[in-house]
Parts: sequence; C-alpha cells; structure tokens
Amino acid sequence: MGHKKVVFVLGPPGVGKGTQCRKIASYYGFVHISAGELLRRERQVRNSVHGELIDSCIKDGKIVPAEITCKLLERHMEESQQDRFLIDGFPRNLENREGWSRTIGDKVEVMFVLFIDCPVEVCIERCLNRGAAAGSGRFDDTIEVIEKRVATHLKETQPTVDYYRELNLLRVVDGNKSEDAVFEDIKLIFNDY
Ligand code: UDP
Ligand code: MG
Repeated sequence: MGHKKVVFVLGPPGVGKGTQCRKIASYYGFVHISAGELLRRERQVRNSVHGELIDSCIKDGKIVPAEITCKLLERHMEESQQDRFLIDGFPRNLENREGWSRTIGDKVEVMFVLFIDCPVEVCIERCLNRGAAAGSGRFDDTIEVIEKRVATHLKETQPTVDYYRELNLLRVVDGNKSEDAVFEDIKLIFNDY
C-alpha cells in the first residue's frame, strides 16, 4: 500500500469528530474515513453477510468486531490514490486495536491519535439535538442508544485512549467550545506535521 499514514480521531459520541474531520481533511488534504459511516453504509448493502451483526451492534451501542471494520477501512485506503487518512471513530477498544495491528498495522503508519475531549453530558445534548434535527438525524441518536454508546465509550474506548497516551501518541483538544475554536486548537497540532 505504498507509504500510507493515518491519524486516528477519537472522542465521546457526539463530540464533533465528523465535523472536525471534514475541516481537517479540506484544510490539510487528508482523506476522511468515518468508520461508523462505512459500517452504516455496509449494513445497507443488499446481501451483505455482516449486515445483521452491524445492525445489532449499532442499535445496541456495541463495537463491531475488528475483522469487519478493518476490512472496510483497508479496502477504502487501497482504493485511494492518496496517502494521508483521518480515521474517524476507530479503534474503539482493545480488540479493534489488536485487529488493526494484525491486519493493517505493518502497512500503514499511525502518525498520532487525536482525542477530542468533552464532558459526556454535553455530548449527549449534542447527539439529541442532531437526532431531533429533521433530515440530519441518525437512527442511533435516541436517548436509549446514546446512553449505551456513552457507556461503551467510557468502558472500552477510554482505556484505548489511555493506551495511546502512554505511548506518547495522544494529542488532546478541548471539544467543549465552538466548532471554529476547536478547529483553531486542532490546527496547532496538525501544523507540526
Ligand atoms: N461503530 C463500531 N466500530 C467503529 C465505528 C463505529 O462498532 O469502528 C459503531 C458503534 O456501534 C457506534 C456506531 O457505529 O456506536 C456509530 O459510530 P460513529 O463513530 O459514527 O458515532 P459517534 O460515536 O461518533 O457518535
Ligand atoms: Mg461520527
């Protein structure tokens, strides 16, 4: 796969990973890949063997096995002529991380991990607003599913974030600000690369 590099972007549900990734992608010329979006698309593919599993994971706020997610990520990167990617919303737990190392880790360099931090109460509010907004709502932006996603984030994703902090790969920004203010902080990080 040549010399491909990625930045993983993590943060609680609703923190604004997708919004900020779109800004970073256009400003710095990265390709934005949302793992959640790839999975939502895959569940719509007719006769997809993984459709039902993906569906039940998303509805339950659970994490889809790495075997499935990594295959989708790898396919997307291989098909692209570009060499710098933002992977939004992955890896979410130890199993995801190990799956990545096993399948893609030797071929693609992880530049760093961007963590957008924010109190979960604020994130829940944002998800609910998004869920209520006509047209832009996601089927998993209901209070029941949001609470499960937050619980999964705290229990499984937070330890993964801590793991990258120990490796000195973590870069943290405060997501509890306006979209533009958060992006200004993100620029300070990306300008170094
Ligand atoms: N998801 C997953 N693995 C991933 C990314 C997403 O299992 O690598 C599932 C998970 O069920 C999650 C849902 O997709 O709750 C939505 O993820 P997304 O990142 O789009 O939403 P966010 O957590 O940012 O609100
Ligand atoms: Mg997202």
